[in-house]
Amino acid sequence: MCPPLFGRRKNVEGCVVVFRDVTKQKEIDTMKSEFVSVASHQLKTPLSGIKWMCELLLDDSIKKTEQEKKEYLNDINNSNERMLHLVEDLLDVSHIETGRKFDIIKKDTDLIEIVAQTLKDNLQFAKDKNVRIIKCDNAPQKFIIKCDGDKIRQVFGNLINNAIKYSKNNGTVEIGCRHTKNLVTIYIKDDGVGIPQKQQARIFEKFFRADNAFTKETDGTGLGLYIARAIIEAHGGKLWFESEENKGSTFYFSLPF
Ligand code: ADP
Repeated sequence: MCPPLFGRRKNVEGCVVVFRDVTKQKEIDTMKSEFVSVASHQLKTPLSGIKWMCELLLDDSIKKTEQEKKEYLNDINNSNERMLHLVEDLLDVSHIETGRKFDIIKKDTDLIEIVAQTLKDNLQFAKDKNVRIIKCDNAPQKFIIKCDGDKIRQVFGNLINNAIKYSKNNGTVEIGCRHTKNLVTIYIKDDGVGIPQKQQARIFEKFFRADNAFTKETDGTGLGLYIARAIIEAHGGKLWFESEENKGSTFYFSLPF
């Protein structure tokens, strides 16, 4: 507030009051602290794991077989992968935030091949979680479209990973593909925990995780869908879902061709 304006007889005649809307600033502050909190929390677990396993490997007083040493190294490698993945996600978010958009490099790409390859990468995860994956029979053998194969693989990878992660024991995940004259749609359907109705509107917000997801899986950042949507929209496509709590979810993404 500025000092008051005085008249000739030293009486207060007016003053200037400036109001500034700080809503945006407050949002940015909240976002920054969420960012730091998620990043440090998610990095702490794999880093602590690596520290612990390195100490074990270096401690000569603890006898280890060659097989055990290999297992520790494997665990270190997995933790490292998780951290790399998180850092890549954070970099993607920073790209989206600063409006720099993604570098989408479109090339002729077989969408079905991407699906098959990503499924293969997730087979072990599905096995560990006791989840069965089925592919819809009437999907085409090949479907060539112009897109950024690496980015679409990232989207599909996130959706299939979520479907398995949020499945119940003995759950089923179904993958399918359909197309019209100029639009191809891939869907991933699970019969898992679903998304509570009252939280569905927030699911594409960055860092947002539904309460039931958080209870089921503490491991997660709430960044995957935010990034996936930005990638699909950068291709001129759409990403959406239908879900019912305790019944399951179906995520769809469509791409023009
Ligand atoms: P993360 O899985 O790391 O939490 P995502 O951005 O991929 O982050 O997903 C955001 C949130 O959306 C999840 O935390 C969860 O609440 C919800 N979600 C995503 N996919 C599913 C699914 N297949 N079933 C139930 N909830 C899901």
